[in-house]
Amino acid sequence: MAHSRGNLFILSAPSGAGKSSLINALLKKHADMKVSVSHTTRAPRPGENNAEHYHFVSVDEFKALIAKDDFFEWAQVFDNYYGTSKQAIEEQLAAGIDVFLDIDWQGARQVREIMDDVKTIFILPPSKQELEQRLNNRGQDSAEIIAGRMAQAQSETSHYNEYDYVVVNDDFDTALCDLETIVIAQRLTLKAQTTRHQTLINELLK
Ligand code: GDP
Ligand code: ADP
Ligand code: 5GP
Repeated sequence: MAHSRGNLFILSAPSGAGKSSLINALLKKHADMKVSVSHTTRAPRPGENNAEHYHFVSVDEFKALIAKDDFFEWAQVFDNYYGTSKQAIEEQLAAGIDVFLDIDWQGARQVREIMDDVKTIFILPPSKQELEQRLNNRGQDSAEIIAGRMAQAQSETSHYNEYDYVVVNDDFDTALCDLETIVIAQRLTLKAQTTRHQTLINELLK
């Protein structure tokens, strides 16, 4: 069975809506999916490891990577730089692995310009109060940082209508099932299935 090129998915949402939790839960179920590890200039949170959650770099290192044209996309979010390196995605897609980008709306815009078959998903929290509650419960950011993220939530959310799909993360398992449905449907398109099942189709049409 020939493999087709992997699909690229973008998840965006206001901070704390549950992007990382949903992606991690989906990857636990599917060994043939990967999340891209971004570069960032923000400080690691307690429990975050370099090269696992992010490649943590200085502003000078980040700027050197921009100058070398190493980024597929990059943006400034909450006063820090964040970017997806070309290396983080190209080999995986070529090997037929589906790749998720947890990136903001500015990054999503750049990727749409380069890849017209990217599928984009916006995650909404069930309410503002619940969003703030989740940022507090996560227990990893200071009160000042949480206030900054809540202030940014509305501007991130205002871009929801640029996305292909919208998932409300109220009950976690329901949202996970919605996300999985989107990803599986993308594997079943005519284009993907024609590549994957070429031998079968040829046989049936003989
Ligand atoms: P979280 O949203 O609470 O998980 O906070 P993070 O600090 O992990 O991410 C901050 C913002 O940066 C979010 O909007 C992310 O989607 C965005 N972000 C993370 N990595 C990238 C990236 O590689 N490129 C772009 N453009 N945005 C990113
Ligand atoms: P993001 O990556 O979008 O910033 P996280 O995945 O870190 O968000 O989730 C923020 C917090 O909310 C985490 O503590 C996570 O465990 C919690 N969370 C995520 N989804 C739900 C949900 N459906 N119900 C309750 N808590 C949730
Ligand atoms: P956090 O600092 O909480 O890990 O991430 C904050 C925001 O940055 C999130 O909304 C996340 O999606 C975004 N982000 C993380 N990595 C990237 C990236 O590589 N590119 C872009 N454009 N945004 C990113």
